[in-house]
Amino acid sequence: MPNILTEAWFRDLIYLVSVIFFVIGLKKLGSPRTARKGNLLSAFGMFLAIAITLANNEIIDWKLYTAGIVIGGLIGIIMAKKVAMTSMPEMVAIFNGFGGIASTLVAIAEYYEQTASFAEAAVNVGSTGSVGFEGNMIIYVTMILSVLVGLVTFSGSFIAFGKLAEFLPTKPILFFGQQLLNAAMFIGIIALTIFLFNEPSNEMYFWAIVGVSFFIGITLTIPIGGADMPVVVSLLNSYSGIAVAMTGFVLSNNALVIVGSLVGASGIILTMIMCKAMNRSLANVIFGGFGAETSGGGEEGGFQGTVKSMSPDEAGMILDQAESVIFVPGYGMAVSQAQHAVKELTDQLEERGIDVKFAIHPVAGRMPGHMNVLLAEAGIDYEKLYDMDINKHFSKTNVAIVIGANDVVNPAAKTNKSSPIYGMPVLNVEEAQQVFVLKRSMKPGFAGIENELFFKDNTTMIFGDAKKTIEGFISSLEELD
Ligand code: NDP
Repeated sequence: MPNILTEAWFRDLIYLVSVIFFVIGLKKLGSPRTARKGNLLSAFGMFLAIAITLANNEIIDWKLYTAGIVIGGLIGIIMAKKVAMTSMPEMVAIFNGFGGIASTLVAIAEYYEQTASFAEAAVNVGSTGSVGFEGNMIIYVTMILSVLVGLVTFSGSFIAFGKLAEFLPTKPILFFGQQLLNAAMFIGIIALTIFLFNEPSNEMYFWAIVGVSFFIGITLTIPIGGADMPVVVSLLNSYSGIAVAMTGFVLSNNALVIVGSLVGASGIILTMIMCKAMNRSLANVIFGGFGAETSGGGEEGGFQGTVKSMSPDEAGMILDQAESVIFVPGYGMAVSQAQHAVKELTDQLEERGIDVKFAIHPVAGRMPGHMNVLLAEAGIDYEKLYDMDINKHFSKTNVAIVIGANDVVNPAAKTNKSSPIYGMPVLNVEEAQQVFVLKRSMKPGFAGIENELFFKDNTTMIFGDAKKTIEGFISSLEELD
């Protein structure tokens, strides 16, 4: 009686089931309401895939695997619990890096296994077995691609992590002949791939491919500025998926091919969405050296004009009279963790019959969906969140409250052709009758450019930590009750 767990058809059937879980999980990740369920479904799919792989290969040393799962799982849980919402892109960068190196390690193991089998075939007199990769081009090419894409992802992700965590310079690092060097390295990889194909046992060629691939990840990522890093992290996420798909070909594992393709495709779609939101092409993000120039939002010496400021108490009185309010959250809301206070204020305003909307810019914060996640955590109704469509509502709104947002409301994107953010779609908050800007100082945001909005006649700065300011609004309104 054959053991069903070791049957290829049964393994493929379970892979198919796990892939269905991944696809449904991915679909559910599309909305904050169902995202948690989507995550759980995908995790279950992953569990099924790992379990059947171990059982099918009769890997029954459960102790070792259980120890790996428990230790790895614990590290994952601790990291996920401890990481601040503002450091999420760093964490995603590290995870991508691990994905890349895992694919590379599998490809390295496969190289040694293949060359050992060639050596055996060569000494086996009369053997008809192949002594090179001739008979298996797909395995050879995908093995090299696994190494290349996996290592570019690995080293690139750690550079991205360093730039985001600011222990590496966040400004683009540009040097003469950078693109030529990259092109030369790619040509070098192609040449080495041909040499290794002709002489598979020459480990030197193989390790040269490993070394150059690692280096390409560094040289491709250092010219990209800190502000573009989240886009790069998303792109590297896509690369890690491609590396996994390549590994799937090397190991003839359908589940890896499909899952890798899902990650590769969703990563590139997200990258394109982010580029569109910043009005940049992907090539401009990768080669543009955005942020290298010292940029100002306006003329020398900054903007002329006066900046008005007000206390939260006074602002509360204006809010009391308003009929419509649009909140515009940005990175500062995440820093001050103001989302729960914002929810409380929303409830108060709505109790007074004031219409409340939220304007969510696609690149507000430091990662896609950053604001959506925070507001969902605070229990703010998803129906109140608007994307760039909200722009048609500002002119009909009494008060726009900008909570720690800066670049995404900078009018320079529309008016100043020399500004590095020129052309990026921004939220037209200045069209509201009154604009409150909640931040701690006049300092610029992530792109490092001044903001003319702060000098406009209808803008009032309310300086201080966003959470404290919102709490100030709440108590002011309570006093007016
Ligand atoms: P910004 O980085 O432009 O501005 C954030 C503002 O928050 C700062 O000016 C800061 O001013 C203020 N702030 C910080 N801490 C607090 C606090 N505790 N209380 C009140 N205010 C605070 O953020 P935006 O969200 O407007 O823009 C996002 C930027 O990130 C854009 O440049 C975007 O291109 C970039 N980016 C985002 C990506 C994404 O996926 N979301 C991807 C790629 C890039 P102060 O110090 O004076 O308080």
